[in-house]
Amino acid sequence: MKFLSTFVTFENLHEVRRLCHWGPIIALSVIAICSTMAMLDSIIWYWPLDTIGGSINFIMLINWTVLILYNYFNAMFVGPGYIPLGWKPENQHDAQYLQYCRICQGYKAPRSHHCRKCNRCVMKMDHHCPWINNCCGHLNHAYFTSFLLLAPLGCSHAAIIFIMTMYTQLYERISFGWSTVKIDMSAVRQFQPLMPFSVPAFAATLFALGLALGTTIAVGMLFFIQMKVILRNKTSIESWIEEKAKDRIQHYQTGEEFIFPYDLGGRWLNFKQVFTWSGTPKGDGIVWPVHPKCHQHTLTIEQLKQKADKRVRSVQYQVVEDYNGACCPLRKGLQTFFRTPCTEEPRIPLSKGDIILATRGTKWWMYGDKVLNEEEMKAGDRVRGWFPRRCVEKCHYDTAANESTSDKKQTTVLDWPTHWPDFTPLENLRRRIKETRSSECR
Ligand SMILES: [Zn+2]
Ligand SMILES: [Zn+2]
Repeated sequence: MKFLSTFVTFENLHEVRRLCHWGPIIALSVIAICSTMAMLDSIIWYWPLDTIGGSINFIMLINWTVLILYNYFNAMFVGPGYIPLGWKPENQHDAQYLQYCRICQGYKAPRSHHCRKCNRCVMKMDHHCPWINNCCGHLNHAYFTSFLLLAPLGCSHAAIIFIMTMYTQLYERISFGWSTVKIDMSAVRQFQPLMPFSVPAFAATLFALGLALGTTIAVGMLFFIQMKVILRNKTSIESWIEEKAKDRIQHYQTGEEFIFPYDLGGRWLNFKQVFTWSGTPKGDGIVWPVHPKCHQHTLTIEQLKQKADKRVRSVQYQVVEDYNGACCPLRKGLQTFFRTPCTEEPRIPLSKGDIILATRGTKWWMYGDKVLNEEEMKAGDRVRGWFPRRCVEKCHYDTAANESTSDKKQTTVLDWPTHWPDFTPLENLRRRIKETRSSECR
């Protein structure tokens, strides 16, 4: 156990329950199948004890497996780092620039987001990864990305072994005379192998080859995405915030210039923030180095503006048909059944008369927040998710029922602190929102 704990840091032993989820079960099964089959096939194809080449091949296989598992378990058990429950900024004045998380009963530090799966606010959250059944964030970003690099490398090596084994076995272990192949093929056992290569062994090798090739392509693509995130120092969520910031500025024509604050201006500088020799990334996950023209709360203020803007611009819908919250509802039409969004985001059950503030949608499904009564709001509840489009009808702004909501929206806009930093022409933005609202209401 001591030996194990030097490799894998268990923050809490109860974290082991993260293994009981389809993601880690499938991921570990694929690792187990590919590495076991690669080792067995190596014994048949390239017996490790006879030649240096065979030994190197076998040692490398073990090496891949150990490195992949080391990074995988660290990504899972070290975790992304969570903002302490009930966290407040050191300077109380700064709290006004931050969002409050009702579930964690604390403020959301810059770059952190609340993950519904982990049920905590996660430091520099990128996304919740079902394969590690944990979030990818500040502390495990390097382990996660190393895993994404090593898994395709290991799988490519395994795939070569599978192909060579099948090739040599199918063609009766013919001797290789390829001048292009640099491996010393004379060393390959050309007589009866130690293990018989039967039809089931062939089928198992073919299956493992499929898994290895699939993993190489899928995980390899994820690696490039994560490298882009690291080299720009901009998480997937932050890319989305930036996009919305540009959209907001264009929509209200406020004349603001949005500078993403965490890009340090060089790929190498950004890379060194995440990858360090000690394995622990730079920083405490709360205070971040920023662009000279920005400050610690540049992005959090932008998020607050977007939140208010979202309320103003979200479209109100009334539920006209009950919905039980099923992923693929049988009674809502074939298109709704087959076009269910491929996401782990929840579906929300609806009852006739409910009001929804929709923020996005597809042709057959919509995503939004259910408008809750005051008691539910006080309890910190939030009901947000997908529902079939045919269950709702758009509310018109000129209906009496909507008057109260538009008042509420107006209040939201006016509730913004008047003393936000001067670099944003906030008054101008407020005026633009008011204008947009009044023209929409007409
Ligand atoms: Zn939270
Ligand atoms: Zn999570």
